[in-house]
Amino acid sequence: MEEYTKEEFMTAKKEMDQLVYESLKGKEAKPNVMFAKMSEISRALKVSKGMVKWARVNSLWPLQFGLACCAIELMGFGSARIDAERKGYLLFRGTPRQADVMIVAGWVTKSVVPEVKRLYEQMTEPRYVVAFGECATCGGPWFESYNIIRGIDQVLPVDVYVAGCPPKPENLFEALMKLQDKIGGKIED
Ligand code: SF4
Repeated sequence: MEEYTKEEFMTAKKEMDQLVYESLKGKEAKPNVMFAKMSEISRALKVSKGMVKWARVNSLWPLQFGLACCAIELMGFGSARIDAERKGYLLFRGTPRQADVMIVAGWVTKSVVPEVKRLYEQMTEPRYVVAFGECATCGGPWFESYNIIRGIDQVLPVDVYVAGCPPKPENLFEALMKLQDKIGGKIED
């Protein structure tokens, strides 16, 4: 079989690149609202900043993840009795890439810290953290334990703390309302 020379190969590559370029002209992809950043969408659609903020405040997407007994209360929060969606706390997301609120429910062992941080870093920005319960807030009953950190705020920036061991699902409802006020600019840090 006859082999291509390097020169022929480079010319063919250039021709192919040109063909692809020509075929894509005028066909720029529109932003995908499922995965694009809010800032890109607002730029592309010329949506006002106020509208973006309103959308952010009213559509919190919590990450589906729990660490200990407080996670049972988190499940209660997802039940029909609480009906969290009426306030815009939408379904728990199974992937951090579609979530913007991390609810840390339970004690955080030192060994699990890297995983929790990785999940946080994979979440969409801006992202928020709720320390749900005594353990996530300060270590709880395990305050002096050798393997549990004294609150998730030692490794992540926390927006709202929820007291209780365990706190009730209603307390989380109030915490998310506070978070909404904070995102909307009604509460300062
Ligand atoms: S705060 Fe209480 S209920 Fe929640 S994880 Fe800690 S020990 Fe369990």
